[in-house]
Amino acid sequence: MENTKKEYKINKEKCIGCGSCSLTCSEGTEMDTDGKAIVISSAKLEECGGVDVCPYGAIEIDNGEEIDEEEE
Ligand code: SF4
Repeated sequence: MENTKKEYKINKEKCIGCGSCSLTCSEGTEMDTDGKAIVISSAKLEECGGVDVCPYGAIEIDNGEEIDEEEE
């Protein structure tokens, strides 16, 4: 099993929906119905440059860990 590949995700809080990533990397990302980007292929996005594809820092590496949003 290949388990070393990075998984990417879009941080929808940071994504402003500029569409740049889907133009730069149409095989890796596309625009979702909410006007923000989604990752459709982490492997393709990696080839396009990964997190650097988004000038706004909205593309993040997702290691598959669940993020607990605990409020104190
Ligand atoms: S380039 Fe970044 S801010 Fe623009 S749509 Fe893609 S993820 Fe969102």
